[in-house]
Amino acid sequence: MNQIKVFSPATVANVSCGYDAMGFALETLGDEMIFTKTNTKEVVISKIEGANLPYEVHKNVAGVVAKLMLKESNANFGLDIQIFKNFKPGSGLGSSAASASGTAFAVNTLLNNKYSNLELTQFAMQGEVAACGSAIADNVAAAIYGGFILVRSYEPLDIVSIPIPTNLIATIIHPQIEIKTEDARKVVPKQIDTNTAIAQWANVGGLISGLYSKDFDLIGRSLVDLVAEPNRKALIPLFDDVKHVAISVGALGAGISGSGPSIFALSKNLETAKKVEVAMDTVYKNSGIDYSTYVSHISKTGIRIL
Ligand code: ADP
Repeated sequence: MNQIKVFSPATVANVSCGYDAMGFALETLGDEMIFTKTNTKEVVISKIEGANLPYEVHKNVAGVVAKLMLKESNANFGLDIQIFKNFKPGSGLGSSAASASGTAFAVNTLLNNKYSNLELTQFAMQGEVAACGSAIADNVAAAIYGGFILVRSYEPLDIVSIPIPTNLIATIIHPQIEIKTEDARKVVPKQIDTNTAIAQWANVGGLISGLYSKDFDLIGRSLVDLVAEPNRKALIPLFDDVKHVAISVGALGAGISGSGPSIFALSKNLETAKKVEVAMDTVYKNSGIDYSTYVSHISKTGIRIL
């Protein structure tokens, strides 16, 4: 195989109570990337469409991950990479993670599947270091494993795939304002009291249990975040209104996607997810802020070959 084209999904990290530990992949929203083997042993990014991103290999997460994997595997080829972005960087939907994990998956395919999903996650995490300075796993693992994942531990890295009910649908609104990941991290308390911790881990247990048992009401009751959301929501205009209308038209729950500004809601069928989209739209349409909305199944497969 000399060339591969992949779809790499947008991802929702945190998922309310699962701050820094959970994430899921979207079925229909994501980037496309084309990787072509070359005989120079160099990595070149020859095309980027849909976003203003660096072509320099060491600054673009796709270049960082590709270079690292070719070096580690002692590959006898180089790569030409083309990136087609279908959603904006800085949205809270894992834009850098989509490129980093798409690259890890594609390079691995060109290497005849030398590496496991866990190893691919570790390579892709190095892309996240280049993007934001920390080796965050939740977005890249969700894209690589697909479905709903739990980062149970970083040392050693332990990723757990959680089964999901077939009809779980996400509705997303992306208000096009800039929130620096650094600022979103700064407002999260460094310490929390035991009562808050108990409530948070009880909800994590409830969410995981609800996903396993397809108990939509339990999923909804558990989509509560007492750690990041109470402080972070102030950075997102109309957050409370969006969450309120989403739940009032039938969403199971709603919260901040990653470090924001996107807001996600989960619904138990497509009809409700579309109603949620209309309700979110109504809140934002006179706000003077540009925004996009999306409705998507949760992707069971994550990255896929096109
Ligand atoms: P979000 O998760 O909020 O969508 P990210 O955390 O992915 O946004 O951050 C995007 C940052 O990563 C930007 O500063 C961007 O310049 C950098 N970056 C480098 N390479 C890429 C790439 N291939 N795709 C997206 N972002 C990239």
